[in-house]
Amino acid sequence: MPRTSTELISEANELIPGGVNSATRNFGAPYAFRESKGAYLTDYDGRRYVDYHAAFGAILLGHSDERVNAAVIQSLNGLDLVGLGVSELEVEVARMVAKLIPSVEKSVTTMSGTEATMQAVRLARGVTGRKYLLKFQGCFHGWGDAVARNVASPANRIGAVDPLSTGILEDALGSTLVAEFNDLDSVRELYERYPGQIAAIILEPVPHNVGTLLPEQSFLEGLQQMARAEGSLLIFDEVITGFRHAPGGYQELCGITPDLTSYGKSMGNGFAVAGLGGRADLMDNFSSAGGGVMLAGTFNGGPVSMAAAIATMTVASDPEVAMHEHTGRLGERMREGLRGITFELGIAAHVTGLGSVFTCYFMEREPKGYLDLLDNNDVGYAMFHRRMTDRGFVMYPMTLKRNHISLAHTDSDIDRTLDAAHDVLKDMRDEGIFR
Ligand code: PLP
Repeated sequence: MPRTSTELISEANELIPGGVNSATRNFGAPYAFRESKGAYLTDYDGRRYVDYHAAFGAILLGHSDERVNAAVIQSLNGLDLVGLGVSELEVEVARMVAKLIPSVEKSVTTMSGTEATMQAVRLARGVTGRKYLLKFQGCFHGWGDAVARNVASPANRIGAVDPLSTGILEDALGSTLVAEFNDLDSVRELYERYPGQIAAIILEPVPHNVGTLLPEQSFLEGLQQMARAEGSLLIFDEVITGFRHAPGGYQELCGITPDLTSYGKSMGNGFAVAGLGGRADLMDNFSSAGGGVMLAGTFNGGPVSMAAAIATMTVASDPEVAMHEHTGRLGERMREGLRGITFELGIAAHVTGLGSVFTCYFMEREPKGYLDLLDNNDVGYAMFHRRMTDRGFVMYPMTLKRNHISLAHTDSDIDRTLDAAHDVLKDMRDEGIFR
């Protein structure tokens, strides 16, 4: 049994490529954690951290939430994976999702957000018989071939194909068109160039994979009108925003009902569960209902995932718990605090976010779309997160990564974080990082 993180990491490197099971987990010290509880992580060397990484946003209520764990344990005492028919838990998840997410009439579950968006894209192509998918520069929708391009692209790759991986066929990448977020003209242009050929528009309603780009309401409404007029489907990828910003996701806040919605991450508070839902007439095109679009997955709807999802959605939507009020209030305390600190230190910053999510860009003005983010001080951003992590406040040390507050965080966690942020930013300013 390895004792220190150095020993664990060296064993991992011999057995797992790069020592991790998802490339972005390879982020330098601390290398490995042995305990997670509430808002805190403890590493293999016994050091405690306040966690704002939250497993890339999968943790909503706090780590190892007792309500979720109890529901999972209870499910294990009854049914395990049978792989035939349907379980009561699956029906309950579908019922809750339809109740919480405004656009969902029918839904399916998957094990990951990637599968959910892959299903959404294939369903859109299957239903419309059209070839092209339209996405936005800066939005990430998982690692499926159709969407794995143009996320945090360098300036010289914008407007070109910028794949996230080798090994993807050019046809797959080329069948996805890329527009600029909050810029309806860029969408209109693509419709003019590919009339009657665009199956769907897919977007993160709040692009959190590049921090936080807040959507203009007129942009979202315009997208819906354009999609309807052109016979395309509108897909909201709420894998991050779903359940996190409101029980019904961002669509509950903006009042726009997309045709299809993918969700995942925080749905099971750390347990593997995701899904796709939408209009019943579209969802009935899956092969399970006699349609032509294949639906399969050995682990789909497994009892552990379903129990975790039910428990998480129950807590997140309970008015007595008032999770969104709590995380939103702490989020605002953090944002206000960071605004005050950067103002006092004379650092050009734009502090933004929504509810539980906070982002501190180092640039003068509010970014509207991805092109504006090219002004961000990427070195300063990554260094701020690195130094905060080193001080015991885990923020992913890469530019444009966002931070998450959970139900388990407290006012005192936020205040301690702000004290540390003041020291870190003052040092960085004195070292000339923000010149
Ligand atoms: N969609 C969005 C908006 C995401 O942020 C992610 C993951 O970060 C995905 C889809 C893919 O989800 P998963 O990592 O569960 O496959």
